[in-house]
Amino acid sequence: MKTKYIIQILLLVVVITSCSNSKKEPLDVISKEVVDHKQKLPKALENEKHWSYKGETGPEHWAEIVKDSDCGGTFQSPINIITIDAVVDKKLKPLDIRYAKETKIHEVINNGHSIQYNFEKGDYINYNKNKYVLKQIHFHESAEHTIDGIRYPIVIHMVHVSTKGEFLVVAVMAKEGENSTPFEFLESFLPIKKGEVKQVNESFDLTENLPENKSYYTYKGSLTTPPCTEGVNWFILKNPITVSLQQVLTLRDLMPIDNYRSEQPLHGRDVKIMK
Ligand SMILES: [Zn+2]
Repeated sequence: MKTKYIIQILLLVVVITSCSNSKKEPLDVISKEVVDHKQKLPKALENEKHWSYKGETGPEHWAEIVKDSDCGGTFQSPINIITIDAVVDKKLKPLDIRYAKETKIHEVINNGHSIQYNFEKGDYINYNKNKYVLKQIHFHESAEHTIDGIRYPIVIHMVHVSTKGEFLVVAVMAKEGENSTPFEFLESFLPIKKGEVKQVNESFDLTENLPENKSYYTYKGSLTTPPCTEGVNWFILKNPITVSLQQVLTLRDLMPIDNYRSEQPLHGRDVKIMK
């Protein structure tokens, strides 16, 4: 009789635990907070669902998990850039980057997929007669785009959005070497636990995170995380910046292992190069 009672209690515990797991995770609340913030993120970033970088919720399953996403689309990112196939386009101009020293980082969040710094309005890039405002930067370890099959240890994605809700992402690769002063500043707000948001409210000059030579590869792709929205203008800078091994490790310890999506088929797209 007593055993039966214990079994019933155990069953109840199992039911309660599985219910709380299927409930909205705190992460969803965070994305909502970010969306509700003054600098509204586009609709595409609103429906953060339960996805990951491995197993049953890994990249191969994103298209099923995140309904109405572009994850199963034809023009996805990242890709492997084959440099001899890149089309030299003389009409391409240097990126018209307008980053100001005084632009503030609003907060840093650990959304369980990456470490992300949300910026206040101020920095932008002019491209194709549109103004793309910087929203956030985040990291992948290792990098997502590869160049002739070479994968850098870290990439910084600088995500910009136009008033029409179109994306422009600049990818800056980082290789291991000397200590980076801007990284030192960014990492001074770490560690940050999964699901945590820390206020920063300090200005940060993002130009310091860019290499001197800003020549780039460009093509049309997608966000590399669900909902994998297509039509993203990608600018992958050819030259990496340098960060120390310790700086790589600090970020790596706070992010899921290998938080990068693997290479997606090109499906006839042109990758252009600005030398
Ligand atoms: Zn990214």
